Amino acid sequence: MTNIDKSEPVMVSGGSGYLASRLVKMLLEAGFTVHVTVRDAQNPAKVAHLTEAAQSSPGLLKLFCADLLQPGSFDEAMKGCAVVFHTASPFVLSGIKDVQKELIEPALKGTENILASVNQTDSVKRVVLTSSVVSVMGDNIDIQTAPNGRFDESCWNDTSSNDHQSYSYSKTLAEKRAWTIAKAQQRWSLVTINPGFILGPSLTKRVDSTSIGFMKDLLGGKYRSGLPQLYNGVVDVRDVAQAHINAAINADANGRYVLVAESLTLLDLAKLLKPHFGSTYPLPGFEAPKWLLVLLAPMFERTRKYARLNFNIPIAFDNSRSIEKLGIEYRPVSQTLVEHAQQIIDDGLLK
Ligand code: NAP
Repeated sequence: MTNIDKSEPVMVSGGSGYLASRLVKMLLEAGFTVHVTVRDAQNPAKVAHLTEAAQSSPGLLKLFCADLLQPGSFDEAMKGCAVVFHTASPFVLSGIKDVQKELIEPALKGTENILASVNQTDSVKRVVLTSSVVSVMGDNIDIQTAPNGRFDESCWNDTSSNDHQSYSYSKTLAEKRAWTIAKAQQRWSLVTINPGFILGPSLTKRVDSTSIGFMKDLLGGKYRSGLPQLYNGVVDVRDVAQAHINAAINADANGRYVLVAESLTLLDLAKLLKPHFGSTYPLPGFEAPKWLLVLLAPMFERTRKYARLNFNIPIAFDNSRSIEKLGIEYRPVSQTLVEHAQQIIDDGLLK
């Protein structure tokens, strides 16, 4: 593949989402023509920030309606595009009633539908798929079998299922299917971005994204009576968006890229916020014991198995490939958190 020329349009699926909105804005700022798909492109709450971003950028925005579950839905938006960024996929960790309908079908069939359209659209040279570290690992305890004690691009999640870590399972199935479809042809190349937990300022006031909801809950006092000791790989939304762009324009980009700045506990995140917001907002100050959390897990929509295999187990990621091959310079997590919290406060989301 040759480097992408900015005169060729690119497509972003699920462009109104938390991560995709940032990606679209950065592509517009870089001068790209961006074909953005949204389920409901008429809803101002979903697209106003994108049209606003387009007005102050050299790039051009074109909005399309498309649904992951409808075959052929992305054909129109994809026409003439050199790159397809496939970010749309439900990111839901709780309140799931029907795993197949709410998670697996949109993730897996959505990926199949998009890649079927890619196969029929000759202009597409590269697909950048937003996968996740949850395709790399299932439970924190999987660290025991990770090479050199760190999860890297060679690892695959082989412990999640329909009933256990179902979001992780949906992302793993989707990424695996994408690689199978990509390897069956020669015209376009696939690159996957596998981010950890994404945080950092949002471009909208929406709170229905899991990342934004978490930060709002943290500041709003939901965890004031204690947190589990749960380690997460954390990364800034702007660094993840940049990784997508670098993966598209760098002809040599290939394979998977784990995107994690640092691995921290939830309490570590609260501690980084405390000096800035601790006097005004009820940030949590301590961790609950694991035995108690295992006992009470069902009350918090978690299984005891989940609590046993994840709480109080440190994890680590090898992010060297993203730094050396994709040129990512990670923001410190403290900056990510403070700027995210400030955005939530400034947008009045805690009232
Ligand atoms: P988000 O704000 O909830 O965005 C999810 C997007 O998926 C929304 O734009 C949503 O469209 C779209 N979507 C869901 N079901 C759809 C369907 N049936 N048809 C069309 N679009 C559909 O979540 P996000 O955090 O930005 O996540 C974006 C991507 O990053 C996902 O692939 C997620 O798995 C991945 N990821 C996220 C994180 C994280 O920590 N946030 C970490 C690793 C990977 P609507 O706006 O119409 O609802």
